[in-house]
Amino acid sequence: MISKIRELFASFMLLELVKGMALTGRYFFARKMTVQFPEERTPMSPRFRGLHALRRYPNGEERCIACKLCEAVCPALAITIESEQREDNTRRTTRYDIDLTKCIFCGFCEESCPVDSIVETRIFDYHGEKRGDLLYTKPMLLAVGDKYEEQIAADRATDAQYR
Ligand code: SF4
Ligand code: SF4
Repeated sequence: MISKIRELFASFMLLELVKGMALTGRYFFARKMTVQFPEERTPMSPRFRGLHALRRYPNGEERCIACKLCEAVCPALAITIESEQREDNTRRTTRYDIDLTKCIFCGFCEESCPVDSIVETRIFDYHGEKRGDLLYTKPMLLAVGDKYEEQIAADRATDAQYR
């Protein structure tokens, strides 16, 4: 009976509405957490696992030695590699595909690579508009690496003491 009276009193005084308005008022004056993406960005870890890239050495030679460790370790079977031996007896990939629709961004490929070739960058705002757009081929991955090498190298240097 008492609870019924209390409920009636609360609804008569519009207490729920007042509580809601108080909450709105509190957040109205609080510091805003919204950022104006893409002009503004929130801080990111140097270990962020975004879009993949294949890196080169400063002389332009690709780092990947086609050892296929990344392909073997990938739990999503997202990496496909084909390779051949060059005339100078070095081994290089002829095909390096990552199917980003399969990838779970676990970072295993990056961790397994002995030459820091395959890496995950800070890029997360990429998209595909048609089937196949998210199948990244070797030239696409190298292009990402070439474009963002400065950032990639800086992130690797920051994280080097923990690896
Ligand atoms: S991040 Fe993980 S799932 Fe994605 S390609 Fe690398 S190993 Fe495979
Ligand atoms: S990216 Fe690294 S782990 Fe993968 S095949 Fe090339 S050298 Fe080996």
